[in-house]
Amino acid sequence: MEIRIQGLRRMFPAHGKVIRALDGVDLDIPARSIFTLLGPSGCGKTTLLRCIVGLEVPDAGEIAIGGETVFSSARGIFVPPEKRGLGMVFQTYAIWPHMNVFQNVAYPLETRKLPRMEIRERVRRVLEFVQLAGLESRPATRLSGGQQQRVALARALVAEPRVILFDEPLSNLDAKLREETRKELRAFLSRLHITAVYVTHDRTEALSLSDRIAVMNDGRILEVGSPRQIYFRSGRRFVADFVGRANLLEGRLRALAGDLAVVDSEVGVLRCAAREGLATGSPVTVCIRPENIRVPPPPEEADANRLRGTVESLLFVGESCEGEIRVGGRRLLVELPAEGELAEGGEVELGFAPRHALLLTP
Ligand code: ATP
Repeated sequence: MEIRIQGLRRMFPAHGKVIRALDGVDLDIPARSIFTLLGPSGCGKTTLLRCIVGLEVPDAGEIAIGGETVFSSARGIFVPPEKRGLGMVFQTYAIWPHMNVFQNVAYPLETRKLPRMEIRERVRRVLEFVQLAGLESRPATRLSGGQQQRVALARALVAEPRVILFDEPLSNLDAKLREETRKELRAFLSRLHITAVYVTHDRTEALSLSDRIAVMNDGRILEVGSPRQIYFRSGRRFVADFVGRANLLEGRLRALAGDLAVVDSEVGVLRCAAREGLATGSPVTVCIRPENIRVPPPPEEADANRLRGTVESLLFVGESCEGEIRVGGRRLLVELPAEGELAEGGEVELGFAPRHALLLTP
């Protein structure tokens, strides 16, 4: 089921001022995809999710789910949450501690007063799907964090929703379990072929889980794209900075020649990837990801930008080494092999290809 959102606004009064939690959101969420709303705390992600579910009434705009308008300020339409056919998984799993696994998952069907046999069969199927078969009579409190999360998922799925929505569902799990559960969730959702809307402020979670990502800030959608587009191709400073570690250098566009752009930057003249819509002389920010800087640049990269610098610090983090290299007045973050030969205080040459130097605008 696709979701179409147009002109959505939601304001909250706060201390005599008005917070624009949603400030004119237009969004198309394609059917059968995992779609993530990513943004910093307070940017409006949860408010948007609550508007889709129907727990929040927007001040203006329209929402349609699978072609059916569920909210329209202009036409006075508001379909209540229970009639929208959605499932939701929250940050706090909200599973009931006094019930066992079966009772927790059966609950949404019990409230609909379905026949006993049908309830039992549907719960059996969904528990098998989330790999909890055999744990039906286990009290909910005697489950691991990951298992509780799967009970919450099973309970959201048992009613066979048209769309499933997740609000930071993994944030209560520790780092390792979060990674495992993320993989599992991705596998579950891909098998289901269901539309999933996922809210997180965790960029790794968004990049690894999603088919598409919408980056939000201050109640607005800044950019929508595949994880790779958002990470490698974003043209916006906020997005590039938020979705990954980035070296951001200020500069001015000197010239454009085919797919190359020449920029006068804080660390000297740089050859960058050209992009449309920029005029010579305009201020730009150059973004270079730490993993795209090579020390030293390999000889075959003849067109690489080459700079000299001093190693300020090296931090061994297991799979790699995070280095800081001072170039002129700037310190550049560089990802180095774990077993490199560099030493703090050493003079080095570093380089990066023009295609890895992206031009950003505010
Ligand atoms: P987080 O990741 O911290 O949950 P978020 O991106 O989900 O943040 P929202 O919870 O949607 O952000 O909040 C957006 C803005 O609206 C925030 O400034 C928040 O303080 C404000 N806000 C949300 N709900 C209310 C409310 N019921 N009353 C007043 N202000 C609210």
